[in-house]
Order: sequence, then structure tokens, then C-alpha cells
Amino acid sequence: MPELAEVEHHRRRWNAGLGHRVLGVELHAGKRIFRGNDLDLLQRTLRRAELVSSEARGKQMLFRFSKNGWLGVHLGMTGELRVEGAGFQPDRHDHLALRQKARVLVFSDARQFGRVLFHAGEAEPEWWRKIPPALTSSVFTLPHLQAFLSRRARAPIKGVLLMQECFPGVGNWMADEILWRARLHPGQPAGRLSNRQIRVLWQTIRWVCRRALRIVAQDYSDPPPSWLFRHRWEKGGRCPKDGSELARATISGRTTAWCPQCQPAASRRSHRVSGLPLSRKSGGGTG
Ligand SMILES: [Zn+2]
Repeated sequence: MPELAEVEHHRRRWNAGLGHRVLGVELHAGKRIFRGNDLDLLQRTLRRAELVSSEARGKQMLFRFSKNGWLGVHLGMTGELRVEGAGFQPDRHDHLALRQKARVLVFSDARQFGRVLFHAGEAEPEWWRKIPPALTSSVFTLPHLQAFLSRRARAPIKGVLLMQECFPGVGNWMADEILWRARLHPGQPAGRLSNRQIRVLWQTIRWVCRRALRIVAQDYSDPPPSWLFRHRWEKGGRCPKDGSELARATISGRTTAWCPQCQPAASRRSHRVSGLPLSRKSGGGTG
């Protein structure tokens, strides 16, 4: 599933169409990705409209057109944005095609967990304004992270990092990468992190987001072999730091990989300090 950096990469693909008019709009009306949209209005507005700008926030993208047209895109699991040549004819999974003079901007989604959200108006749509600040921005502060973790104190930290209301754009692989680099066990309850661990986590979130954007968004390259990313998918994958075999379990409903050496389960001592019984379930597999 596309995360922060993959989404940014897809957004940039459509940059080829910036400053050019849409001459024709072809779409598969009735498909799930269009639910809730006024498709007549979408077609009327986007026809003859110029693609003016675009932006990505977390897993969402917003394309701004002249004539007060705004096209939101969420890629879901299998969605992708492509640019095809002028003579291109949409296939069965190419649910939206914006035809320009020299190219066709295509949104394709085989499994249709993606979404198109069209909005007409002078101001950007309300759902866009509600997306929380980027993790790379100065608004995502250490106190902001601390407060959020304390409100989700019992949830495993892995599941908390997937909550888009605080961590827009973080998905399964980024959450595993962050926890591995911050040396935190994914099943550890968010409320049991020390101040020092929270500080390291905050720095690591920002580092991983910046690097992923730089590496993946550029040309869809994989991060280097020093990243957990390169080893977490393979059976028998090993920690690039110490060669330990990676552990795997379902935590917060998602397949999670971690290094038992770098990310040991929380010690008994921390349980005693917090005054909670040792047998208390952490809400996730501890491998
Ligand atoms: Zn390790």
C-alpha cells in the first residue's frame, strides 16, 4: 500500500500536465472509487480547465485546476497515477483519464480501494484542511507527540504509529522502519515509553520521513540495504545491523517485522515501575 513517499512520487508523475488544459474527461461512472461524487459537475468543470498545481499530504493528494476545480486522489491499496501518450485508450482499470493535447493523465486502480474526491469552489475542500500537519514540518513537535502517545497509552506503539490523525502518511513499512531505528519493540504500549525513548522516536519519525521522501519520491527507488525495508519482506530476512533473524507477528492487525536483538520486549522492571501486573496483556504479539 502506498505510504508517504510513494504517494509523493505518484503526485509528481502528473506534474507533466501542469500548465496544460484538459481537453476531455473519460471515466468509468458507477465504479466504487467515484462514490459520493457529482460526476456531471466533475466533467463540466474539468473540461477545458488547466492543471494549476498539486500537493500531497500524508496519503492524500489534491490537484488544483482552473475553473475552481479540485481533484482529490487517494490511492488505496493498488491505485496509481500514470502519464500516457496522446493516443492512449483507457483500459478496464483506468477509471479516470484526463486527456490533454500531448498526454493523458490516468488514475488506475485494479482493486478499487482508492478514492476520487471532486470539489468545486474557490477555496480548497474542507477534508483537505483537516489533514494534520506533515511529520516533517515544524508543527509536529515533541510535546505534540508526547500528548498523543499519552492519549493512546494502552495501545501497542506499532498500532499508534499507523493512526493517520497524528502520523499522516505512515503505513506498515514506515512504522516498522521507525521502530527498528528507535530500538522500540512494536508491541510495547505507547504509554510505557520513557521521555528519552519518546525523544528518540520523535527524531526517528522525522528522519525516516525525510529520507524516504528523498529516496523513494524521487524515482521510486528502494531505500539502501542498510534499511530494514530491504529485509522485512523476505522469509528468513535478517537485521542489517547485527544479522539476527527478524521476528514476525501480527500486531494491531498488521504483519510486523522487528529485530529481537535491537528491539527487545520491555523489561520487567518497567512493568513494576508503572505499577501494572506483569501478566497484563500488551495488546500485541511479543514474538
Ligand atoms: Zn538488530
